[in-house]
Amino acid sequence: MVRAGLRLLLGQMLDADPGAVVLDDGPCPHCGRPHDLTASSPAGRRLHFAAVGRGDLIVLAICRFPVGLGLGVPDGPGREAWLRARSPARLAAQRQAVARGRCSPPRDSSVEYVVRFVATAPEYDCVVSVALEVPFRPDNPVFRDPSTD
Ligand SMILES: [Zn+2]
Repeated sequence: MVRAGLRLLLGQMLDADPGAVVLDDGPCPHCGRPHDLTASSPAGRRLHFAAVGRGDLIVLAICRFPVGLGLGVPDGPGREAWLRARSPARLAAQRQAVARGRCSPPRDSSVEYVVRFVATAPEYDCVVSVALEVPFRPDNPVFRDPSTD
């Protein structure tokens, strides 16, 4: 169900038949971890995607750059528990947003990680973060947005 919806979306964005979209959502061939998932069209177009879910909540991210999603569940009621859940969500998102072959965040300034909090309805009782691995350019508009994470 999720996969069918994901295919439909990716097919539209890749201008391809959803059934012809090739999903690479297996483990990384270099390190075995699931990061930098991609979808390719027969014409050779490629997008990066990520998905997380909890109950009937599904969050999808589709991006030109390696993208990751992370989900954290508060360990109790209240704002403090909610704030504590943001850290694991952010870390999981950043781990997943690393390009294949790179396999860990680079130590140089060629790449920036943009991390944002994803607003979810309170009834889902979770925190979702999205992270993008973006080639660094000072004029890139994504770096001008205020961080909400
Ligand atoms: Zn890897």
